[in-house]
Parts: sequence; structure tokens; C-alpha cells
Amino acid sequence: MSTEIKKLYINRGHSNTDPGAVGYIKERTGNVKVGDYMEAYLLENYVVQIRSNPGTLSSLSAIARDANNWGADLFVSIHFNAGKGDGYESLVYGKSRYALGKCFEKYILAVGQNSRGVKYRPDLGVLRLTNMPAILGEMAFVDNYKDIQDWNEDFEFKKLGIAYAKAAAEWLGLPKKEKAPAKKPAATTSAKYKVGKNYTLQTRLKVRTGAGTNYAQKKVKNLTSGGKKAAVWKGSNDGAVFEKGTVVTALQVETLSNGNIWIKVPSGWVCAKEGKEIYIK
Ligand SMILES: [Zn+2]
Repeated sequence: MSTEIKKLYINRGHSNTDPGAVGYIKERTGNVKVGDYMEAYLLENYVVQIRSNPGTLSSLSAIARDANNWGADLFVSIHFNAGKGDGYESLVYGKSRYALGKCFEKYILAVGQNSRGVKYRPDLGVLRLTNMPAILGEMAFVDNYKDIQDWNEDFEFKKLGIAYAKAAAEWLGLPKKEKAPAKKPAATTSAKYKVGKNYTLQTRLKVRTGAGTNYAQKKVKNLTSGGKKAAVWKGSNDGAVFEKGTVVTALQVETLSNGNIWIKVPSGWVCAKEGKEIYIK
């Protein structure tokens, strides 16, 4: 048994002809993106076999039959919710699958999404008709802007997909792939950012007086008028923080000795890359 490669079935909810719930995003778009990122991360990092619903199976019994016939060890269905709630949900068949629901919830909480908990849904076809442990994840509510705004961009779908990949890996006990030692980062990483080009903040960022965290944070009153508009807090003596999504123009790019990259924008300096984290792209 232990030498057999584990089999994971990934069902990106709904189908090529059924968009699922429609709100600020189409549910199917998110389901496919999260599923694709989940699959890519697993194949890159773990020894596992993956089969996916190609998007042409729309009947729940046909999907369950496909997973059963293949002999999957775990069935994962990816969805986004509707009904104006707020947060993630792990849907499982019943009490015996509580731990499965908690395992996936743990990784979703770790990327910053709140959870409404593990819920028992024996009425759902893919949970009822599959022979193996099965989970259906509702990532966020497509019709609640407060919820979906944090989970509607490509890099956010990626966070959810990787969270689900790690959960599946833990649940199945997947062996890690042997990897070649990582290459040293090229010295020319600052070339990624070009003076005069526009970039978008992927997260909220403090605006500082120089390139590095040892420089003071600016106050809102010291920002340009455009900078004031992008500031999260508006009081003139508040610390300057740019909102996520702010578009900035690079006037100067500096790579520090620790490899972190800072960009000068009209209002001051913001951190573009810290370690492996990309804050601006
Ligand atoms: Zn759905």
C-alpha cells in the first residue's frame, strides 16, 4: 500500500457551460483558478496522481462515478458561495469527516480568510455519491463585496489554491518531491522594476522617507495630493499607508544588501519585494 502513489480527484465546481453563482465575480472563474493553482503546486512539490473533472461533466452523479471508477483516495470540490455571508466553509458528508473539514479549514485560515466552520451536508451529491473521503470547499461569497474583494484577484486565487494543495498533501500524507538545490537569486533582480513604469500594490504598504525600514514612516500631510487619495488613513498626522491596489510610478529602484527591493514613488519610498514576498508588481 505505502508504495502506491496516492490519487487525488479535483473537481472545479460547476462546468464549462454553467458559471455557478454570479456576483462580483463568476463563481466558475474562481473555481477553475483555485483548482489550477492547487494542481500546479501539488505536481511541483509532491508525488501524487491527479485527475480532474475536465469541465464537461456537469451531473453530480457522473462526477462521483468518475472519481469512484478511478479509485481516488480523496475527492476535493472547489466552489465559491452565494447568499451574502462572509467567509470560508468546509462542507463534508457527516461527523466522520469532521477532521477532514478541519484540516482544509486550517490552511485557509492560515492565508487570512475567516471561516464559518465545518458543516455537514449529506444532501450534496458529490459528498453523498463518492466512495472516498470527500470535501467541498466554499472559498468566499461572490455576492458580498467585503468578503470577495480579498479573494478575487489572481494572486489571491493562488493563495487559496496553495492552501488547498497543502491541506490535501497533509491529509493524504504525500511524499515531497526531491528537488534540485535552489539557485542563488540573480544579482539583477532589480531589473524587474523599471524606472518610469507603473506598478500595483498587492498589499497595504507604509510610505517611508528612504529605502529601508530604518527610515521613518511619512505622515499623510507629507504625501502628494495623489498620495493622500491613496492613503488608508486620512488624518494629516496619521502614518502614511497606501491602500492595496494603488498604482504607483517608479522614479527610482534600489536593491538593498539584504536583497530587498524598494521603489521611490512621488510620495516617498515603498517596499516592492521583501525576501520571497512580492508586495508590488
Ligand atoms: Zn458552486
